[in-house]
Amino acid sequence: MLTIDGSTGEGGGQILRTTLSLSLITQTPVRITSIRKGRARPGLMRQHLTSVQAAAQVGRAEVSGAALGSQEVVFRPTAIVAGEHTFRVGSAGSTTLVLQTVLPALLRAPAPSTLTLEGGTHNPMAPPFDFLDLAYLPLVRRMGPEITATLVTPGFYPAGGGLARVSIAPVPALAPLELLSRGELRGRRAVATVANLPSAVALRELDAAAAVLGWEPACFRPSVLRGGHGPGNVITIVVESEHVTEVFTGFGERGVRAESVGAKAAEEARDYLAAGVPVGEHLADQLLLPIALAGRGAFRTVRPSSHTTTHLQLLRDLLGIRASVEPISEGAWHIEIGR
Ligand code: AMP
Repeated sequence: MLTIDGSTGEGGGQILRTTLSLSLITQTPVRITSIRKGRARPGLMRQHLTSVQAAAQVGRAEVSGAALGSQEVVFRPTAIVAGEHTFRVGSAGSTTLVLQTVLPALLRAPAPSTLTLEGGTHNPMAPPFDFLDLAYLPLVRRMGPEITATLVTPGFYPAGGGLARVSIAPVPALAPLELLSRGELRGRRAVATVANLPSAVALRELDAAAAVLGWEPACFRPSVLRGGHGPGNVITIVVESEHVTEVFTGFGERGVRAESVGAKAAEEARDYLAAGVPVGEHLADQLLLPIALAGRGAFRTVRPSSHTTTHLQLLRDLLGIRASVEPISEGAWHIEIGR
């Protein structure tokens, strides 16, 4: 059995999720130790436990250690079960991270799948639904599979209660992805959403973002959700280019001023635009797995995060891929993966 030390590098949930994804694909039993040792509250939190359970359902796996707080999991898959699956995170834990755990196996399954995901759709420190839908999935689709994601009800941290549906038409093998330039700028916008919070919060975020980005006023729009949502607040900045769409997100938090939420997300978008690369920080670490499964690919990105360097090392160790990370100019890096 393969043993993976979950405390290496970033020491977060991604090591667990990618190990489960690859265990499913290669149908290899794994033991993951020291899970999320690098985090303030180590071990499996609700969303990680749901990822383990989701992988167990898709992989008809035998699992030990699947409990809240557990720092060691043994996972033995026996199949890849396509079809209809429902995964309930049970709190505002991220549904998108649960999806990313099982998606690689279902992209290459023998039959299509339809997933129903309940929980958080807009969580701090996880890909928000808009990022998944506008930035990540279009690039995965470019590698061959058909995937559609629908947000039925948004679920904001900490209340949760969101619902998303994802349908996947698999392919026998993923095509390589090369993303070296953004191409022409096609559109840009910032939308600040408030759910059961004063609209002034959204307006203050947009003003702060506008001061950083200097885009024309029509690019900035508040969105006020009423009814059973929230409370929740998120600012979503979308940069659409010819070859890629990137999404930058800021989450409202108690004790953090709306101005700093708006400005911080805008600074991330501004730095991405200044670097002249197609791939931002989060998209970079998330593209590595599908590209590694395709066997080769390359992209240009901003300074690699510790998620990116940890993920690359894990993929080198588990899949035997070769990967290089080279700086090419001020603020721009070239990442190349090949066998
Ligand atoms: P981990 O911290 O190891 O559980 O991994 C978190 C994952 O969420 C990484 O793949 C991050 O790139 C991703 N992530 C965190 N924040 C964002 C964001 N604002 N937009 C997109 N992805 C994000």
